[in-house]
Amino acid sequence: MADTSTPNGTAGGWALEARGLGKRYLGNWALRDCSFRVPAGRICGLVGPNGAGKSTLLGLATRQVQRTTGSLSIFGVPVDDPAVLPRIAFLGQDKPLFKRFTVADTLRLGAELNPGWDAAAAERIVRSGNVPAHARIGTLSGGQRTRVAFALAFGKRPDLLLLDEPMSDLDPLARDEMSTLLMAEAVERGTTVVMSSHMLTELEDMCDYLLVVAEGRIRMAGDADALVPAHTLVTGVTRDGALPAELDRHTVVESRVQGRQFQAMIRPKEPLSADWESVEPSLEEVLLAHLRSPDAPSLYTQGARVDAGGTQAA
Ligand code: ADP
Repeated sequence: MADTSTPNGTAGGWALEARGLGKRYLGNWALRDCSFRVPAGRICGLVGPNGAGKSTLLGLATRQVQRTTGSLSIFGVPVDDPAVLPRIAFLGQDKPLFKRFTVADTLRLGAELNPGWDAAAAERIVRSGNVPAHARIGTLSGGQRTRVAFALAFGKRPDLLLLDEPMSDLDPLARDEMSTLLMAEAVERGTTVVMSSHMLTELEDMCDYLLVVAEGRIRMAGDADALVPAHTLVTGVTRDGALPAELDRHTVVESRVQGRQFQAMIRPKEPLSADWESVEPSLEEVLLAHLRSPDAPSLYTQGARVDAGGTQAA
């Protein structure tokens, strides 16, 4: 059996490891039976429709949300351990910056609140965007504010940076600038990033690891490079308007009939019918197919899956 104790080709261990993780609000499960791993040093996209449980998962990792079941560890340490907090930084959609503070005041506050503050990195991030140090936060553009928020997050020198749609309010130019900045800083320091986003092209460009969530459950987890080639997009001619029975020999994520043609996103289990045309889909096509079909069978690449183990209530 394959060794799944460490990620392929890395000695960094697991940034996140969830076993049977669940969160219930009153009678409803926001997140249920989630068991997965994210290797250290990766940029992981957290994808799913609204209400899927993405913010809940990020809230559990930042201890803003208390779990109902299971366990979550961060770099091998239980999330409740006080040693975890200094290692993580979180940035949400509403960047909580004081509008009346200047940029310089904001960075000074960051330095005061964080013992391991990296002033040089924080200042570099602000300066490279030509954000004036004396300007008040309230007068900055959305892109500039996001840059200051990133400076605060990276100034903390986190090992794990959790981002909840951090760029949703930015125009395409600012978004592009922020993704470049984020990737450069993360790569330089080996920071693990887990980032939720609805922008599939952004995820395709930035992320090398994916967690796909739908209806509170993990639908796909693993290396983007392995998840995508596991899928094939097939097209062919229907039989009297019905899908061919041979499709059932494969794992079907999504299928559609259009006139006399059918198209299906499948994970092949055996050689394909010679009557079909097949192409490798893009990441965006794979994600869309899974998002449209939350009941499709889940997929984990090697190492991403972990047994639920002892999953007592917290
Ligand atoms: P996402 O971030 O993917 O949009 P969320 O994690 O915010 O999803 O929400 C998952 C589910 O949990 C949704 O059905 C949402 O209504 C519910 N939920 C989230 N937070 C709360 C809360 N504080 N109280 C009750 N239900 C909540």
